[in-house]
This record gives sequence, structure tokens and C-alpha cells, in this order.
Amino acid sequence: MSRSPIPLVDSLGRRHNNLRISVTDRCNIRCFYCMPEQVQFLPRAELLTFEEIVRFVRAAAALGVNKLRLTGGEPLVRAHLSELIRQLADIPEINDIALTTNGVLLAEQAADLKEAGLQRLNISLDGLREETFQRIARREGLQRVLEGIQVAQQLGFEKIRLNAVAIAGITEEEIVPLGEFARHQQLELRFIEFMPLDAEGNWQQDQVLSGATIRGCLEKEFGALVPANRKDASQPAVDYVFADGGGRIGFINPVTQPFCSDCNRLRITAEGKIRNCLFSTTEWDAREVIRRGGEDHELEALLRDCIAAKKPGHGIDSDEFVRPQRAMYEIGG
Ligand code: SAM
Ligand code: SF4
Repeated sequence: MSRSPIPLVDSLGRRHNNLRISVTDRCNIRCFYCMPEQVQFLPRAELLTFEEIVRFVRAAAALGVNKLRLTGGEPLVRAHLSELIRQLADIPEINDIALTTNGVLLAEQAADLKEAGLQRLNISLDGLREETFQRIARREGLQRVLEGIQVAQQLGFEKIRLNAVAIAGITEEEIVPLGEFARHQQLELRFIEFMPLDAEGNWQQDQVLSGATIRGCLEKEFGALVPANRKDASQPAVDYVFADGGGRIGFINPVTQPFCSDCNRLRITAEGKIRNCLFSTTEWDAREVIRRGGEDHELEALLRDCIAAKKPGHGIDSDEFVRPQRAMYEIGG
């Protein structure tokens, strides 16, 4: 491929250097905000192979992508994931590889992942009670997640962050215990507002527990939260530090405080569809190009078309908002 010096900049000047790769739509639990209880997963032949993922990432890296996040579905159910990480880490332009996981299989895989070149981990933890876990995940598993966190901490990853989706009527009682846990474990914690990406289409605005409400609960318990310096304008979270020096808390508020104007992310689904937004209703088929033996300039053209079509914002709060047909597990969160 002729290495184009022109990066993936859209009409609003947003420069896309951050690629989220879904490695599978499968999962070992069934969070109601993401997956249906009964689910038909993609046949394995539909998934991009590791070779195909690496081919695509090389093409994207030539256009300025240097940060990767592996996700899914649950990325740790994809066999030999550390082998993929090793291959991605070998791409010279890539300088940051992160993973988002539910943590259930982390204890047994964390060492291999780190050794392969994984730098940062986001572990999903919506609460600390088994009852809340099962209500959300519709499966058991909290103890395994907690073990996974412990093992990952012992291994010394560059960064480990906890992600908690907040849902009104379900997780209010988890906010303070999670804050306590994060402070005690010296882990960064981020609360994420519930987005309309559940497979069963049950999302309602009144289920959104806003970042502002959560911040209020935390401040009542732990004292003032002070806005933290923003290191990277494109990061989705608004971060705070506890005034008593007890750690850092972030809020990802896509519903009440959209951050689309600084978004630098693009996505590729497990079966190779490129998306410019979680809420995109259009996709660009990279697998079709790769499997028919297409050249890198064709992948470049797809990427540029995808970025050129990016909308200014997701518009969740507008009357014209249309939910994407696909749910979170099919897109890659
Ligand atoms: N299985 C992994 C996990 O759960 O961490 C990775 C994939 S999951 C789709 C990525 C993140 O999206 C998780 O932190 C999850 O809690 C979050 N998520 C899923 N559905 C969501 C929704 N409807 N609204 C907000 N966050 C959601
Ligand atoms: Fe699985 Fe993650 Fe979706 Fe939960 S949020 S069902 S863990 S993919």
C-alpha cells in the first residue's frame, strides 16, 4: 500500500487514531443491557481470522491509527487471543493495546495477555453483590471477576480501570461500595450511563442513572470530587479526583452529556464491518474486500468513506434518533 500521509480526519476535524476491534460476538454471560437471553451467535466462519484482523489493522495504522482496544462480546472467549495481541503489538505504528473484558476468564489468561503485549485493561464491574451481578448478567460469576481483578493487579498492568454501567432501579446501592472498593484497591473507576443498545429494545430514558446523580452520591459519602486535568480531549470520560487524595473517578455520560464532538474512535465488528459510531446505522464491509483478495488501497477507500460519513453526534436525545439495528454485543463496546 502506498503509505498515505493523510490521516483519517472527518468533516468536523476529528482525527481518528483509535480503533476498537470486536474479536467475537460470543459471551459467557448475558448482561440484559447488551445481549438477549436467547442468542444465535455468528457462525465461526463469519468472524475475521487473526490474519484478517492484522491485515485490516495494518491498513488502518498506515492512516494514523495507533491505539487499539480489543472488545466483543467477551474477547476472552476467543481462543488464543494472546496470539492476536502478539501480532498486533508487532505492528510498528501501534503503541497502545487495551482490552475490555467482563473479567470472568481473566484470572487464568491475564499472565499470557500481558506477556503478549497487552498494556491496559478495562474490567467491567457493575456492583459488588452477587445478587446485582446475577440480575444484570443473568449468570453467576462475580467471584471469578474479583479473582481476575486481583490477579491482574498482581501482574502489574500499566493501567487497570473498572467500568460500571449504572442503571436506575438496580445499581444505586452499588455506587458507594464500588467507590470504596476502587479507593481501597487504588483502581480507577468509571461509571457509564446506560445507552439504548440493549438487544431486547427495553431501554427507557428513566433507567438512565446520570453521572451527575452518581457524583452526588459519592460526594455525600467521600467528600468533594475535584475536576481532574484532562490529558486527552478525546477521552469519553469526565474525570475527578477525591479531594482527600483517595483516587480518581470518571463519568462516561453519553446520554446526559454527549462527547461526540471530540470522538476519535472507529470500530470494526467481529465479522469485519467498519463503523464510525456505536450508534451508526451504516457499515462498511472490510471482510468483503479482504476475502476477495482486494488491495490495501480499497481498504483505505472504505475507511475514508466511513470517516467522511460520520455524523456530528449520536442524537439520542433528538426526536429523530433511530436506534441501530444491532445491539452492543454485535457491535463491540
Ligand atoms: N464483554 C466485555 C465487557 O463486558 O467488558 C466487553 C464488551 S462490552 C459490550 C463493553 C462495555 O460496554 C462493558 O463495560 C459493558 O458494561 C458496556 N455496555 C454494554 N452494554 C451497554 C449499554 N447498553 N450501555 C452502556 N454500556 C454498555
Ligand atoms: Fe457479555 Fe460484555 Fe455484553 Fe455483558 S456487556 S453480555 S459481558 S459482551
